[in-house]
Amino acid sequence: MKNYSTGTKCVQAGYRPGNGEPRQIPIIQSTTFRYETSEAMGKLFDLEAPGYFYTRLQNPTNDYVAAKIAELEGGTAGMLTSSGQAANFFALFNICECGSHIVSSSSIYGGTFNLISVTMAKMGIEVTFISPDCTEEELDAAFRENTRAVFGETIANPALTVLDIEKFARAAHRHGVPLIVDNTFPTPVNCRPIEWGADIVTHSTTKYMDGHGAAVGGAIVDSGRFDWMAHADKFPGLCTPDESYHGIVYAEKFGKEGAFITKCTSQLMRDFGCIQSPQNAFLLNLGLESLHVRMPKHVENGQAVAEFLQTQPAVAHVSYPGLPSDPYYAVAQKYLPKGGCGVVSFELKGGRPAAEAFMKELKLAAIETHVADARTCCLNPATSTHRQMNDEQLKAAGVPAGLIRISCGLEDKEDLIADLQQAFEAVGR
Ligand SMILES: *Cc1c(COP(=O)(O)O)cnc(C)c1O
Repeated sequence: MKNYSTGTKCVQAGYRPGNGEPRQIPIIQSTTFRYETSEAMGKLFDLEAPGYFYTRLQNPTNDYVAAKIAELEGGTAGMLTSSGQAANFFALFNICECGSHIVSSSSIYGGTFNLISVTMAKMGIEVTFISPDCTEEELDAAFRENTRAVFGETIANPALTVLDIEKFARAAHRHGVPLIVDNTFPTPVNCRPIEWGADIVTHSTTKYMDGHGAAVGGAIVDSGRFDWMAHADKFPGLCTPDESYHGIVYAEKFGKEGAFITKCTSQLMRDFGCIQSPQNAFLLNLGLESLHVRMPKHVENGQAVAEFLQTQPAVAHVSYPGLPSDPYYAVAQKYLPKGGCGVVSFELKGGRPAAEAFMKELKLAAIETHVADARTCCLNPATSTHRQMNDEQLKAAGVPAGLIRISCGLEDKEDLIADLQQAFEAVGR
């Protein structure tokens, strides 16, 4: 479906039924697969033939949906994982090992920050966090001889900073390592990081891709462009024999186009088993079929709500890259010309008590630890996800006590604004 546009791929890429086959993706709800001879199965275990033998590693339903996401991102191969956390862990751990080092944007999702800075540190993998606004020189200075990957988020959750993908890609490639971009918030409808130089793209499909708050999931897509063999000393896992598969060399046998995802599936999925259930892959695909219709509405609502909030005397500050006053407006115009997403952050004067009182009055926007689905929801990090921090620490983390993150759903914007308006009135602002 290469020559079709994004919307058409959202609807039809990945699964092409043959004559008389089901029009909708079949849910292959089976742990295992039958073979007529041990020889035929042996070929699968040697990676000599493609096919399925156990759903801990691979399942056809998942592969149809992964192929759709790979086509949407313009990559050569893709895979689904059980969550966005698993996708980012796999993408990094597929090329890092004890003694490796990662350069990461400091403006990333809290769960990913913990994963890299705490859990992967226990595996002997070090990280240098760097501001997404750094200069090229500062970025270069973050690299070490043992750096194996660069990581960032197209639009960071919840800071809403926008990554200068070309700047990060240039630096990664100068140092002979790939750039991994978490593209959860814009989705490939609004940005395709591979077109700007990213090598690997990850997703929490839990968010807009599913879009209905129904299924937790993740995805990894490989651009197929990074030349592992040209940097073979850095990537022994891809460029030297894998003893657990009779000594095959992934980068030789599967080439640039297939090595990364094949290794990730046959080693990491085999050993960690973070597979998405076929049932959830089916639900994810239902979301993908309307992704290109939903994203413009999320953007329209986010933009309208951000503009409304900016006019309110009770609001100290609004972050939304679609606002001309936002520090990321220019970079967003370049990478996100159709808009970014429906998530808006704003700070109320009066801190934590003001935020709590305001949110209690909202009738449409529900208080939830979630973003990016059809129903509008909001969160005050200071009283929820970041409640261990005092006001000083919150400020340092860029999450002031009065900050509210609102994820604009698919309701009509007039109703969302009226809901905010009545809440401002109810708290007497
Ligand atoms: C939610 C999120 C994740 C984690 O995804 P889960 O599906 O919750 O595991 C990773 N990155 C970003 C940008 C997210 O918003």
